[in-house]
Amino acid sequence: MNERSTQVLVVGGGPAGSTTAALIAREGFAVTLAERASFPRYHIGESLLPSCLRVFDVLGIREKMEAHGFQRKDGAYFDWGGEPWDFEFGTPSRPLYGFQVIRSEFDQLLLDHARTQGVEVHENTEVKTVAMVDGRPRSARLVDEDGVTREISFEILVDASGRTGLMANHYLRQRRFHEAFRNVALWAYWTDAKRLPIGPYGAIATCSIPTGWMWAIPLHDGTLSSGLVLHRTTFQEMRKYATLEEIYRDAVTSCRVVAGLTDEARLTTPLRVETDYSYVAERFSGPGYYLVGDAACFLDPLLSTGVHLATFSGMVAAAAVSSTLRGEVSDLESTEFYDASYRRAYLRMLVVVSAFYQTHTGRDAYFKKAQQLTRRDYSDANLAQAFVKIMSGLEDLRDIEGDPSQDLLPKLTDMYREHYSFVRKRDQWATMSLEDINKGIARSRLVADVQEDFSLTPETAVNGLYVAAEPSLGLRRLGHA
Ligand code: FAD
Repeated sequence: MNERSTQVLVVGGGPAGSTTAALIAREGFAVTLAERASFPRYHIGESLLPSCLRVFDVLGIREKMEAHGFQRKDGAYFDWGGEPWDFEFGTPSRPLYGFQVIRSEFDQLLLDHARTQGVEVHENTEVKTVAMVDGRPRSARLVDEDGVTREISFEILVDASGRTGLMANHYLRQRRFHEAFRNVALWAYWTDAKRLPIGPYGAIATCSIPTGWMWAIPLHDGTLSSGLVLHRTTFQEMRKYATLEEIYRDAVTSCRVVAGLTDEARLTTPLRVETDYSYVAERFSGPGYYLVGDAACFLDPLLSTGVHLATFSGMVAAAAVSSTLRGEVSDLESTEFYDASYRRAYLRMLVVVSAFYQTHTGRDAYFKKAQQLTRRDYSDANLAQAFVKIMSGLEDLRDIEGDPSQDLLPKLTDMYREHYSFVRKRDQWATMSLEDINKGIARSRLVADVQEDFSLTPETAVNGLYVAAEPSLGLRRLGHA
């Protein structure tokens, strides 16, 4: 058995692992990344939010991403509760877009970029065990495809192992599932499907159906990714009398948008299934370790937040680790900053997704259940309390006192409903009163505020610290430029 050491060991080479590893290596530290699979490897999670592009800029990979030919995505189209509507991410004066990506190609670009930044990448290499000493990970046992075992010691462990959750599941034992989003997803790829004839260019279509909801994502190789999301109990009930293919095909038939896009198309891949994928760890970091991306938490894919959270948390973790290794902040300051920053970003998205479910006014059983469960999830976890605390800038929420779980979701839901109704009436803006236009704009700003990330500016500092990318990536203290 070979033995060796590194400063930072990163477990997993998905978007979270590659981002974190590349940014720490660029700061001059020794980084080793172990990835179980051989890339390119398949992965779900194809629709990216525009916020990912900000991280690509910091990584210095934006040009490569732009040149690759991924489908550009200018917004989203919803057929939600029988009401079609859409929104563009940007405005004519401030264009904003995301991408629809084939993840095997996207993840390969990110991992190759990490190599160019000096990361020592080992594919086909699984991290089997981690040795903890006094609650701090000190070394790990790696096994490669030939069964050769290696022991590696390190100063910091970054767990980017995705749903596997190496630390959360095996060492910390603290992953909690969200009952509201205890869902099952079934998806496949279509050839010769039509492109959405309405809505923003390259949009994802998200459509509610009586049993759940469906997505349709156009990819740059001409295929269409389309999936179905159901609550676990509904899925289990249906499985008693139907095959996976029957469940999926019935859903397509009941979804006017996906049925329209695929009526002359062929299903050219087997169905893929993912279950129980919404969870959160009680701690996102601790002495000498950081959980990034899905290794820490994962939210319902409804608003395509997964890769955004993976790359955002990767960037924040890289800044925290780099500052710790340079001795600018203590280990404790760094891990507490990281936990609070990522948790807040995650909580915000959780609240947005929950409020989004609440805006569904139809009578469909899936949404009724999701609404009840999200409310319960709120009171259970005191999420609303935490959310109000971190959202002190929002005037509309200031008057919430006592038990905010009673008030928060209805208020946010109203806010979203009004915002979407304003966006939907775009073709009537020219004839609206100035007062209504101003109200609509103010409401949209509020919605944008809710979705804004923490920790990246002095104004959004957490525990007196924030992330700065220049002149080096790291944490800065408020008041010290
Ligand atoms: P991953 O991408 O899962 O990477 C983890 C890596 O770790 C893997 O390559 C794995 O092989 C490796 N690994 C695991 N264990 C070990 C080990 N012990 N040793 C070494 N390597 C290991 N997100 C979006 O942004 N948009 C979407 O449209 C979207 N749709 C989704 C639809 C569904 C049904 C689901 C379930 C998720 C969706 N997501 C979406 C979420 C998205 O897939 C994830 O959030 C994202 O991939 C997280 O990136 P990551 O780097 O944290 O984890």
